[in-house]
Formats: sequence, C-alpha cells, structure tokens
Amino acid sequence: GWDLRGLLKKNGLLIATAVSVPLGIGLGVAVRDHGALSSLDKFYFGFPGEILMRMLKLIILPLIVSSIITGVASLKSEVSGLIGLRAITYYFTTTVIAVILGIILVITIKPGGSVNTEDIDRFGSSQNVSMVDAMLDLIRNMFPENLVQACFQQYKTKREEIVLGVMNTTSATSLFHASSLQGDSPKDYHVVGSYSDGINILGLIVFCLVFGSVIGNMGEQGRTLVDVFDALNEATMRVVQIIMCYMPVGVLFLIAAKIAAVDDWSIFTKLGLYMATVLSGLAIHGLLVLPLLYLVVVRKNPYKFAWGMTQALLTALMISSSSATLPVTFQCVEENNKVDKRITRFMLPVGATINMDGTALYEAVAAIFIAQLNNYPLSIGQIITISVTATAASIGAAGVPNAGLVTMVIVLTAVGLPANDVTLIIAVDWLLDRFRTVINVLGDAYGTGIVEKLSEAELGRVSSPSLPDNTEHD
Ligand code: ASP
Repeated sequence: GWDLRGLLKKNGLLIATAVSVPLGIGLGVAVRDHGALSSLDKFYFGFPGEILMRMLKLIILPLIVSSIITGVASLKSEVSGLIGLRAITYYFTTTVIAVILGIILVITIKPGGSVNTEDIDRFGSSQNVSMVDAMLDLIRNMFPENLVQACFQQYKTKREEIVLGVMNTTSATSLFHASSLQGDSPKDYHVVGSYSDGINILGLIVFCLVFGSVIGNMGEQGRTLVDVFDALNEATMRVVQIIMCYMPVGVLFLIAAKIAAVDDWSIFTKLGLYMATVLSGLAIHGLLVLPLLYLVVVRKNPYKFAWGMTQALLTALMISSSSATLPVTFQCVEENNKVDKRITRFMLPVGATINMDGTALYEAVAAIFIAQLNNYPLSIGQIITISVTATAASIGAAGVPNAGLVTMVIVLTAVGLPANDVTLIIAVDWLLDRFRTVINVLGDAYGTGIVEKLSEAELGRVSSPSLPDNTEHD
C-alpha cells in the first residue's frame, strides 16, 4: 500500500541531498573567492564531510559480509552458479561496450591533438609494472592468507612499496605512498591521497561467496549461521538508514571543501576537450546504452529505474567511491526498485568491486589521449591491447577514489607509453572520477534488474522480493 509518510520521508532526504550539492558548491566558491579561510581552516572545513565518509566506510565490512553470505546461501548452488554466470556475462559485456564506446569517441574527437604537452605540468615519476605482475597481484588478493587481516589491510602485495603504478589496486593508497616516497609537493597528496577503505574487499568477496554457498547447502546445521548473518544484514541496513540522515550535511561540506581547495582552474580549460570526451562517453553509456539494454531485457521503463537510484548516484558523485556508496546503492535497488534480495545481496558487492563501466571507458580514453599527446601512433593491435587492458584495469581497480588512475599504468605500459604520463591527467581526475563512479554504480544497479529478469524462472516469482526475513524499513 501507499505509505505517504514513509514516501515523504524518503523523498525529503533525497531533496535535502540534492539541494546540498549546489549549496555546497556555492559555499565552496564563496570561501575560495573571498579567501575567508586560511589553508589550515580549510582543513577543518572539510571535517563534517570526512565524518560522512568514515561512517559509510565503517558499514562496508558488515554489509558485504552479511549480504553476500545470505544472498548466496538463499539459493541452491546450481541456481547461484547460473545467476553468477549471468552476472559475469553482464559485467563483461557492458564493460567491453563501454571501452569500445570510449575508443570510438577519443579517436573521432582527438582531444590530444589540440593540447600542447608543455602546457601541462608533469609531476612525479614512476616505474613500469608488468602486466603479468599486475594480474598475479589481483589473483593473489582474491585469496587473502589471513581473514582478519583482510578486513583491515587492503590488497597487500609483495611490491606494495614500489610505486604509483603497482596494480595492487591499493589505488589511492599506493598512489599516496608513491608520492610520499618521492617527496612530491603537498598538492599532489591533495589530489591523490584521498580515502581508501582499507579492506581487501575482493578477498572477502571470494571467501564469502564460497562460505555462503557452503552453509546454504549444509542443511539444519548451516541454517543457524544463515540466520545469524541474516539478522546481521538486517541490522546493518538499519544502521545505514541512520547514516543516511546525515547525508545532506556531509555532502554539503564535502563538496564545499573540495571546491575551496582547488587552486588551479586553468587546467580545466587546457584539458577541456579531453574531459568533454570522457564525460560524453559516460553520458552516452549511462543515458543510452545501459537503459537500452535494460529496456530490451526487462521491458520496463529504464529511466524510472534510474530515478529510483538517484540518491545512490548523487552519493557516488559526491564521494567518488563505489564501495562507500554501496550501502546507499542497496537501499535504492531494494527499497525503490524492488529488485529481489537474493540477487542484490551478492551482485551489488561484487559489482561495486569488479564491474566498472565508467572506469573502463575512462581508461581507454585516457590512454589514447596520452598517446595523442605524445604523437605516438597506435596500431590496430595496440588499440586492441588497450581495450583488453582497460577492461582488466577496471576489474582490478578498487571502488575507491582515483583507483582508475592508478590501474591505468597497466594500460599505458602494455602499449609502451611512459607510465608516469598518468601525471598529465591527475589534476582533473578528482572531477572525472566522480562521474565515472556514477556510471559504475548505475551499471551495477541495472545489472541486478537485468539478471533478476533473466533469472525469473529459477527465482520462481514475478514480482516482490522473497527472502524470508520480510524486511521492513519504514
Ligand atoms: N572511483 C571509482 C569507483 O569507486 C573507481 C575509479 O577510480 O575509477 O568506482
């Protein structure tokens, strides 16, 4: 039935969040232009936003563990295998489409033809990392040697200390290490040293998938454990609702502090065409490609589905992290779009970690843009190499800010471009990162709707979620 109060409450939060974005931007501009705050004050200024990030990241661990375990355990192993296969197929197909779209755009628009490399600062330097090492690291991380450690140490690798480029997917963290090792200016820290969630999410996901399916098939004995994780999941989602009440305040200060801190806006004009290429690719993918796919498969209005995701998309835009957005993504997909929880519970955490259409598109565009800047002609073979490595790099990127920038070293190295040319685009990454994260989250969301539809027969239902827990959120 219609719960008017609940409806108002939900939209109230959405409206408040939406309003806080322009307010935050305005506040940021005001603070910057009037120089009202010293740089030290600016640091304190971002504090309410930092608290939001901390709360969202705090909830990731119980959220992914409980949701994957209960999601997988609620399905028979043949069924979860089949659904898993569909999910992987969706992830792979949409990522490849995104890459191809990006390549077509960057080759047509040629943003790198119009920029003089001398105009852009190169800062920092890095070492090249081989594709093989990168792949081995990714796989190594899928098998954490210590479960407890996996919960607080993200993607530890043997070569962690080396450089910016290590595709250990420590992403922002390793980039941060790299610049701190090389003693770069504090400005660099600001751009790249943002948050990292400190969890080996990929390792935990692999473990929880196996663990969930084992206890799901264990009969009576396993049931107790499933119930425990089910209760944990329900409790976690309630905590998420509390956190979301703080969202408008956090968002306002997060964006205000960011805007106030950007000192060099001229780079945006210099790299304007490059940014336009990335942004138009993301827009085409998010507004046309994915909705079309959803329409063809599900035969429902894709924009209504996207509208249900607004709160999550706004969050992604504000915090540039698929992982930290995950709690909100869950809320939107389950509560607004009513996707079956047996699907969302394992697809969303996995999707947030490995399915990044926006990142893949961006990696392909950026790599070819850098080739154009260097007047470096690319053969068809090299362009294919770029598409393959961009796909791999998007899978390898963690769902944290600037992760895509780090894994891009793989793409550059694979075609013989200097890895440290990543620094050419660092200055605008904070902005592009936001938009590609939005598309990453949107892709994960559409995926649950599409796979749900394809799995209708196995799930044995037409509508309404059917986990036994009978979740009531309002
Ligand atoms: N920030 C992105 C995400 O969390 C990853 C990236 O840097 O592309 O989805």
